[in-house]
Amino acid sequence: MKKTFVTKGQLEHIVSQFPTPFHLYDEKGIRARARALKAAFAWNPGFKEYFAVKATPNPFILKILQEEGCGVDCSSLTELMMAKACGFTGEDIMFSSNDTPEEDFRYARSLEATINLDDITHIDFLDSIAGIPELISCRFNPGGYFSIANNIMDNPGDAKYGFTKEQIFEGYKKLQQLGAKRFGLHAFLASNTTTNDYYPELAKILFRLAVELKKETGAQIKFINLSGGVGIPYRPDQDPVDIAVVGEGVRRAFEEVLVPAGMEDVSIYTELGRYMLAPNGCLVTRAIHEKHTYKDYIGLDACAANLMRPAMYGAYHHITVMGKENLPCDHKYDVTGGLCENNDKFAVDRMLPQIDIGDLVVLHDTGAHGFAMGYNYNGKLRSAEILLCEDGNAKLIRRAETPKDYFATFDFTHLFDKI
Ligand SMILES: *Cc1c(COP(=O)(O)O)cnc(C)c1O
Repeated sequence: MKKTFVTKGQLEHIVSQFPTPFHLYDEKGIRARARALKAAFAWNPGFKEYFAVKATPNPFILKILQEEGCGVDCSSLTELMMAKACGFTGEDIMFSSNDTPEEDFRYARSLEATINLDDITHIDFLDSIAGIPELISCRFNPGGYFSIANNIMDNPGDAKYGFTKEQIFEGYKKLQQLGAKRFGLHAFLASNTTTNDYYPELAKILFRLAVELKKETGAQIKFINLSGGVGIPYRPDQDPVDIAVVGEGVRRAFEEVLVPAGMEDVSIYTELGRYMLAPNGCLVTRAIHEKHTYKDYIGLDACAANLMRPAMYGAYHHITVMGKENLPCDHKYDVTGGLCENNDKFAVDRMLPQIDIGDLVVLHDTGAHGFAMGYNYNGKLRSAEILLCEDGNAKLIRRAETPKDYFATFDFTHLFDKI
């Protein structure tokens, strides 16, 4: 049985201070994950996790991760601004963007962030606007299908990201001519993987490529960035990744490939978002309506604007009806939000205990790519974000939007002039 990180008693106290819906985060769980990841890679002295800001772009969350020794991986100008505001500087910041606007590159250079180039044409582009830094990284895309033990994991050949193998060699040479001295190598080949073999397999591919690159171009390779992609068990019947086993698998690949090539000083970096945060967040909602037509519906006070994954990917998010954890799941419901959009369903044909209006309904595993993917369709407002602190107190770490926020980008001056 999947359990919530918050008890019904704690949650009742929190909703007495902050109205539903809101995203709730678990500080204790976040710190525990950061520590487990660090321990799994402790064999590599230069190891660093660069948390993928896009997964949970909240300064309070970033500060917790900073205290645990993490850096940040940013994908845009505003994420870089948030990183700076949190006190991340220089090599604490990875900038892994694509289709990158000029001003983003310029700003990343001003922060001395480590730039991870997505495309070979970006070498000249970056050089012309902000110059090539001494430390720079390139993103690799091997093309074709990426499989582990004959299971197709993903289809990089169809993905817009990265350099081809040929382009990586050419790019490294060109970057050296333009002044680069130390290099990074990065790839993201599969998302939300739940096997312990993903990182070790990816590491082997990148380690072998790094050895070839060093041989052919003479480049000094400072780090290999395994990026994101380690997943979590969204469904109750799935097993979690064992991060210690993952770290050990990467260590073996390191010993096998890099050490014999005299490259034992290479640092391993990760850019995990989902693994770090998803299970440490949940969306707290209340049932506000029930409807019985051709199916039985429960209407929540949240909608896809608060959590898009089910509508967008058909993603499963486990649901707990607080206080009814031990009752039989003998009711079949579609659990919906209020968007005028029929895919605004958090669950379809889900077996749950009987839900009554006013019940607190918790959607699990929304701590990454949850609030972050929110939007304002139908004029819906983004919810608050609340941190369940280690000491048990609840802290508002982002207030809910108000109509004023929604209207803030209009200029009504001329309209009012006429009236
Ligand atoms: C999205 C993203 C991540 C994080 O991915 P998760 O699946 O959340 O681990 C890391 N790096 C890059 C470049 C990304 O685009």
